[in-house]
Amino acid sequence: MEPYRIRNFCIIAHIDHGKSTLADRLLEVTGTVESREMTEQFLDSMDLERERGITIKGKAVRMMFDDSDGEVFQLNLIDTPGHVDFSYEVSRALAACEGALLVVDASQGIQAQTLANAYLAVAADLVLIPVINKIDLPSAETQRVGQELQQVLGFHPHEILEASAKTGVGISGLLEGIINRVPVPAGDPDGPLRALIFDSAYDPYKGVVAYVRVMDGALKVHDKLVMLGTGAVSEAIEVGAFLPSMQSTKTLRAGEVGYIATGLKNLQECQVGDTVTHQTRTLVPPLPGYEPLKPVVFMGLYPIEGESYEPLRVALDKLRLNDAALTFEPESSPALGFGFRLGLLGLLHLEIVQERLEREYGLNLIATAPSVAYEAVLSDGSLFDVANPAEMPAAGLITEVREPWVELTIVTPSRFIGTIMELTTSRRGTYKRMEYLSVTAVDSDSGAPASDARVLLEYEVPLSEILVGFYDQLKTRSQGYASLDYRSLGLRPGSLVKLDVLLNGKPVDALSFVVHKDRAYDRGRSLVQELRSLIPRQLFEVAVQAAIGSRVIARETVRALRKDVLAKCYGGDVTRKRKLLQKQAEGKKRLKKVGQVEVPQEAFLALLKLPGT
Ligand code: GDP
Ligand code: MG
Repeated sequence: MEPYRIRNFCIIAHIDHGKSTLADRLLEVTGTVESREMTEQFLDSMDLERERGITIKGKAVRMMFDDSDGEVFQLNLIDTPGHVDFSYEVSRALAACEGALLVVDASQGIQAQTLANAYLAVAADLVLIPVINKIDLPSAETQRVGQELQQVLGFHPHEILEASAKTGVGISGLLEGIINRVPVPAGDPDGPLRALIFDSAYDPYKGVVAYVRVMDGALKVHDKLVMLGTGAVSEAIEVGAFLPSMQSTKTLRAGEVGYIATGLKNLQECQVGDTVTHQTRTLVPPLPGYEPLKPVVFMGLYPIEGESYEPLRVALDKLRLNDAALTFEPESSPALGFGFRLGLLGLLHLEIVQERLEREYGLNLIATAPSVAYEAVLSDGSLFDVANPAEMPAAGLITEVREPWVELTIVTPSRFIGTIMELTTSRRGTYKRMEYLSVTAVDSDSGAPASDARVLLEYEVPLSEILVGFYDQLKTRSQGYASLDYRSLGLRPGSLVKLDVLLNGKPVDALSFVVHKDRAYDRGRSLVQELRSLIPRQLFEVAVQAAIGSRVIARETVRALRKDVLAKCYGGDVTRKRKLLQKQAEGKKRLKKVGQVEVPQEAFLALLKLPGT
């Protein structure tokens, strides 16, 4: 198709503001999916996606639209995962588009992810079309939300569209808006091929399928291709578009969105952000923005039953086939046995992987507390990536430890500002700025913004501080009203130390963590107290210690068991004694031996959930 009749766009929104439902309506109105085949949230095909209402995998669908003048347009909708964990994929999907529908719920207004996504889209030079959705709701405040859009993002009133993805009101206006406002794809149709990979998936028959947007030139089936970033070469086994199922089209031209079946076996050879060109054209400059994926969060994952180690490995291998961002390495821990250390893009990614392993593969797993990717500068100036806190080099060997920081954006009704400030400060956050999103609500007595006026708060905070329990705390403190998003600020040096937990002098690797120096003492103390209450008394005394290097900063003692369990039934009947012994034996199965000390599994679990560790 001629570029002037192609429009490439995506939909961005805060979670639950109606992105999937709106996509459903567009698919329906354009006849891409017949009404009778329509299932709700058509593009979210994974069970997990539907249940949780989130988009995990990006998708692309081509719609053909006949406008009122009888002209046919090719509209490519690229669906993006909205979550910050996948912001690199999102940035590449945005780079494949010229425009974006910015959807805001009429009853909720602008939320943290609305802003984060809008900024990403503006940075990618997209034309934004603001859409107020759910105008059918009785609680809709269409006018107020329109004012927010004007005030916060600078839209003109006439730019703002209104729709109900549920009833279909306003959908044709949206399509018109897309055709009239989203720019025609630029690019040189006769130049050397450059196609941007914005997603990829593994297909057992076709190998790795690259989702691409052709920027310049054209490609056809059987062309010999190369990925400029990874250097992987392949033939285009099949070339086509998603209509919405894969349909071979033989060619893809500048401006178009579609897929290339590469026959490659390994997703890692076909990375998001890479540029595809012809093997004869390796000197063509690659498209900007390509970055190899790097894990942000690490977690140890151990099967509860030792015999599940092999099934866990197989399951991880399978997940990795379709998840280029997942990394894992075998790891063993004296405390937890054999398992793996996973590298992930963030907390949601981590949760999804863990949940899929448990649900789709029926595995019972113990996860260690997530940790961030620290970087240690060694005395000789070299850098050491710390994927596991237990591996942090001794303090004497390093000159500096760096940790990832993020810019945190919170949107909340103003009455919760105090308690949220307190929370972020307790997590080492630094306050950056505050802005009222709408000052329409003014207290009639004082003239100050009313307590339900909504504000935007910005902080800088170490990523490690918001990993555990932060989101729950924010929701509790704001009665569910506050929303949150963040973006990476890179690594910054900090006064960080590794804290070890020792049982009778032996460090328990699975419990080591990295903590800010000022907190080490408090955290260490609460940790050993908690542990003491969880470790059953044994035949000998157990010293529970927290230490930084060789310096012990807290100590508790689990006193020795004096009486043997049978003492209290002296002279009693035999069956009762046997029962007691049996009970003791069963209890033993769930105990992990650390050195000589037996530690119940619950102790690990409870400790790993300690807030802030
Ligand atoms: P997403 O997270 O942005 O993809 O949001 P969804 O499309 O999953 O929508 C979230 C919820 O809002 C679902 O229960 C939808 O049925 C509902 N919803 C979406 N659009 C509308 C609308 O225009 N009106 C009403 N009343 N509900 C809507
Ligand atoms: Mg959705």
